[in-house]
Amino acid sequence: MGMGGEGDAKYGVSTGRGRRGAHDGRRGAGDGARATGPARWAMGPARWGGWTRHRAGVACDWDVGRNMLRRDGRSPWLRVIHRIGNTMYTLYLLAFFALGTLTASAQEASPFHPLDLPAANTYRTGSGRPGVDYWQQRVDYTIQASLNVETNEITGSETIRYTNNSPDDLPYLWMHLEQNMCAPTSVTNQLDQPPFIFLGSVFDFSCQGFEGGIFINRIQSAGRDLAHHIYNTTMRVDLAEPLPPGGVLAFDVDWRMIIPPYGGARMGRDEALYEIAQWYPRLAVYDDVRGWNNEPYIGAGEFYLEYGDFDVTLDLPATYLAVATGELQNPEAVLTPTQRERLARAIASETPVSIVTKDEAGNTARTRPSSSGRLDWHFKASDVRDFAFAASPNFRWDAAGWNGVLIQTFYRSEATKWEEAIRMAVHSIKTFSEMWHPYPYPHATTVEGPIEGMEYPMLTFVPDNARVEDLHWVLAHEFGHEWFPMLVGSNERLYPWMDEGFNTFMDLYVAADYYKGTEYGESIEWNPLAIYPDNAVPGEEQALITRPVAQYNLAWTAYNKPALMLQLLRHEVLGPERFDAAFKAYIQAWTNKHPTPADFFRIMRDVSGMDLDWFWRGWVMTPARLDQAVLGVVPRAEGGSNVRLQNKQDMVMPLELRVDFADGTTQTFRLPVEMWNQGPIFTYRVPGTTAVRTVEIDPRRRMPDDERTNNVWRAP
Ligand SMILES: [Zn+2]
Repeated sequence: MGMGGEGDAKYGVSTGRGRRGAHDGRRGAGDGARATGPARWAMGPARWGGWTRHRAGVACDWDVGRNMLRRDGRSPWLRVIHRIGNTMYTLYLLAFFALGTLTASAQEASPFHPLDLPAANTYRTGSGRPGVDYWQQRVDYTIQASLNVETNEITGSETIRYTNNSPDDLPYLWMHLEQNMCAPTSVTNQLDQPPFIFLGSVFDFSCQGFEGGIFINRIQSAGRDLAHHIYNTTMRVDLAEPLPPGGVLAFDVDWRMIIPPYGGARMGRDEALYEIAQWYPRLAVYDDVRGWNNEPYIGAGEFYLEYGDFDVTLDLPATYLAVATGELQNPEAVLTPTQRERLARAIASETPVSIVTKDEAGNTARTRPSSSGRLDWHFKASDVRDFAFAASPNFRWDAAGWNGVLIQTFYRSEATKWEEAIRMAVHSIKTFSEMWHPYPYPHATTVEGPIEGMEYPMLTFVPDNARVEDLHWVLAHEFGHEWFPMLVGSNERLYPWMDEGFNTFMDLYVAADYYKGTEYGESIEWNPLAIYPDNAVPGEEQALITRPVAQYNLAWTAYNKPALMLQLLRHEVLGPERFDAAFKAYIQAWTNKHPTPADFFRIMRDVSGMDLDWFWRGWVMTPARLDQAVLGVVPRAEGGSNVRLQNKQDMVMPLELRVDFADGTTQTFRLPVEMWNQGPIFTYRVPGTTAVRTVEIDPRRRMPDDERTNNVWRAP
């Protein structure tokens, strides 16, 4: 999902922030009150090493501590006890007997202690890959559906072939009936929640008075009815006999659904244009992690679906042009000879070709082989997790080819900015492919219409945004979803950061490249950092791991914060070489499969060679905050200086230090995160014997540092 105003709001904030500094000192005023940060860290950061002493007002001399540590080989925790013990011998003894417990809790309190991940097994390995016994269910659909443009209804009939690859007997199957989101008794309708703000856009998941729904007329297997129970947007289908491991069940479903008159439910219509998705009864995912993933469709939290093949026949008025997930099987029946000839030229040409020109659009005598009666459009798609389509009698249609992929845009004549959309589309598919993983499908198509921005395999819906940069942002974003979650099928109903966030991260490079040399192009890449102060509100900010339906700032928690997380991991922690190898390996390992957060964490460590549990703890599992500070500079007896640095909050990150020397030279030192291994204070022995004049932490301003006034030290 991506909203029309996303780019706009982002850019607006970006330029504003850029002028006054992304994280300027003005925020310092509130930071004293913000020292509550560590207390929110469930693991108890206040107990972490020297932090306790500092907060308690105990003499905070880490250098002494380090010497003691070297001398007696004990942890910072033990040193605290030792020092107290010097004056309170009894307490020391008490503490001494509690050493085992305290040492363990000190380790648990450290931001570097291992994440509590589910144990690796033969389904999912410790290296974050599918294991030797990895399985997932397969669901193949054969669908025949008819669109009634008078009543705005779809009637459909499908045969579902469900293959049980699990080691379990399945007494029932769970299905999604997403159009029941707007049925009178749905959770969404009963709660009638107000629209929520997504950066500059309002996103309305309510049904605005529309009463829709999907009506099941028949569920049968081998001619016998299957008992079924509908609970709002989900349906349990009870099987006469449990489906055994390796078993295949074919069953038929007949249904009818009402098409909403807007895009609130991620699909809908606008006059003669139909953008149809979440429209057929489909299987929920059954997996090794949670069994049935039968979370209802409430609004936020998109889809988690099985992979399979689709064979879909759409019966449409002959005046309509259609496009869908999958390859068109009968172009000679539904396209004119001119259109087929232009398409053949387009696939071989990166230069766009108009398949339906501005002059032709809406003139069905020129655009349709027949303008009366109805036509069947036949599509097939292999190994995809969903199927959507769009249809209209007055599309303009542009196309181009890149690397064997047919790239297409469909839009209405009023949407004049869309004349550029085909170039944006080619650039997006090409850039994503070259940077991360080749585009996996035969075509990549985007359709202009009322939907604020939605993604389906091979097909996306994008609105005609007021600003061309916004059109580009949403268009590229929806195409980015072809990688996450279409290709890498994570669970969007639970972990939107793994699709919206990963995708937003990739989009930043596409936007920066498409607009390079412009003000927008130069600022968009670090926009998530620029909007950090407005969104990462202390005490309110939620961890990325929060379920989407419980998120009140989806634009931040599901999109921009995870994008910032990956940018910092790529540029400041691992470096592009290590990051890219790991991220590509993740895509490769989980192509057309169902990864979990633990799988992602593990494969990133396995390929990059760096334990990142501390990173995921701070960025995914908790809303940790960062404040890196310089405490002071101490001259060394033998010449040169030591810089005393402190990590004052519960997030740890590497630290970059720029040092200006008395001889007029400047050096920048990048200190790895291991500097905080022994506690939140670190003394850096600046190389050389020249006196230090000024030091500054994070001089490039890449870190979301809460308090910048403590980042600089100047010689008195
Ligand atoms: Zn999205």
